[in-house]
Amino acid sequence: MRLLFLGPPGAGKGTQAEAVAHAKGIAHVSTGEMFRRHVSEGTVLGEEVKAIMDRGDLVPDTVTIAMLHERIGQADAADGYILDGFPRTLHQADSLDAEIGEDALDAVVILDVAEDELVNRMLSRGRADDTEESVRNRLAVYRTDTEPLKELYSNRGIALTVSGLGEVADITGRILESLDSLTKTRP
Ligand code: AMP
Repeated sequence: MRLLFLGPPGAGKGTQAEAVAHAKGIAHVSTGEMFRRHVSEGTVLGEEVKAIMDRGDLVPDTVTIAMLHERIGQADAADGYILDGFPRTLHQADSLDAEIGEDALDAVVILDVAEDELVNRMLSRGRADDTEESVRNRLAVYRTDTEPLKELYSNRGIALTVSGLGEVADITGRILESLDSLTKTRP
């Protein structure tokens, strides 16, 4: 199963992607985590992206696309994956279609959380890029660059919207249920 988790920053994508990947026995591919690892290990790429991430801006597509495609070519992603945080722009989405084809994604889980709740969640999370200014910028970037992907995947008929409110385990349960119903309705 090949999935994408889509939603605004602070919606709980990382937590849910991790839980669902575990439940399904597929790879969890988070570009944000990959970049954070580069920053903490002080690699050349890490040096390049640190300031961009701290501001809450997007890393240039060329860098991100190359890193992602290399990652999903690895053996553990052969049986399926959850993309968490990629694609985040229409250009990145096109790159998936171009490299893997439209079957790169069986379903797109859209986590739905109200905006006030997002800011509160991020400010209480304490990640390096969770300052108020960066949080506001990431929300703005999400709206302009990433939100159009909802329409793209809805038009393809593969989007599933799930409420991201409530207990972590309940949200995971709702996602797994909607994925099950999808496999039942499709041949
Ligand atoms: P995340 O953990 O998904 O919230 O990502 C943290 C940060 O990593 C983002 O604010 C961006 O600076 C960078 N990043 C992660 N994924 C992407 C992507 N697909 N395109 C561009 N930048 C990204």
